[in-house]
This record gives sequence, structure tokens and C-alpha cells, in this order.
Amino acid sequence: MEETKKTEKKEPVWVMSERCKSCAKCVFACPAGVLVMATDARTIYGKMIAIDRADLCVGCNKCENACPDFAIFVAEKDEFPFPKITKEAKERQAKILANDCQPLPKEGA
Ligand code: SF4
Ligand code: SF4
Repeated sequence: MEETKKTEKKEPVWVMSERCKSCAKCVFACPAGVLVMATDARTIYGKMIAIDRADLCVGCNKCENACPDFAIFVAEKDEFPFPKITKEAKERQAKILANDCQPLPKEGA
């Protein structure tokens, strides 16, 4: 695995999908509407964690701490310019949970 450097990362949050067991614990833990369980027929459970709105990630580490399989990772605070949480992000998270953790329809679609 790539060694962590104290430089700015391009991604705030990323997944090692081969470790993911599609439990959705990270989706429930996220306060900011970043994560969803996407349909994926190649997996045993037919779904896979997906980073849907990386731009909303606030770097809180809740997903990483919630994952029982060490499958999701968050950049260090000095590696990525995380935004603060927004009302939009909180509302989006509530909608994702109400949608059984599945992706929401694309805005404007
Ligand atoms: S670090 Fe926080 S905001 Fe970012 S994906 Fe994980 S739980 Fe969500
Ligand atoms: S908590 Fe971990 S194993 Fe569960 S869906 Fe998220 S990344 Fe996958």
C-alpha cells in the first residue's frame, strides 16, 4: 500500500474495496452525505461502498473508526483541505439514510 506522506492528498477518503463486506456501517456513521451503498452485481451482497460526494467530506474519521474491516481511509488533516460541514451535507445524509443507504437521484436529473 502506498505510504502516507505529509503532503496534500488528492482524495479526502478512499476505500480498499477488496476488504469491504458491504455492511454500511460507514454510511451510517458519516454525518456529511459522502458515502452510499451502490449496486454492484460482482459482489456477494450485490452492493459496494461508494464515495459519492467526496467534496462534502469533512475529515471527521467516523467512517474509518466505524469500519470493522479496515477498508476505508481518511486523509490526515494536514494532507487535505477539508471543508466544514454544511446544511446541504447534513440534509443529504438524512436523505441517504431514508433511502436505505442507496445513492440519491443525481441533482438536476
Ligand atoms: S471522514 Fe467523516 S465526512 Fe468524510 S466520509 Fe468519513 S465519516 Fe464522512
Ligand atoms: S464499514 Fe467498512 S466494510 Fe462496512 S461498508 Fe463501510 S467500508 Fe465496507
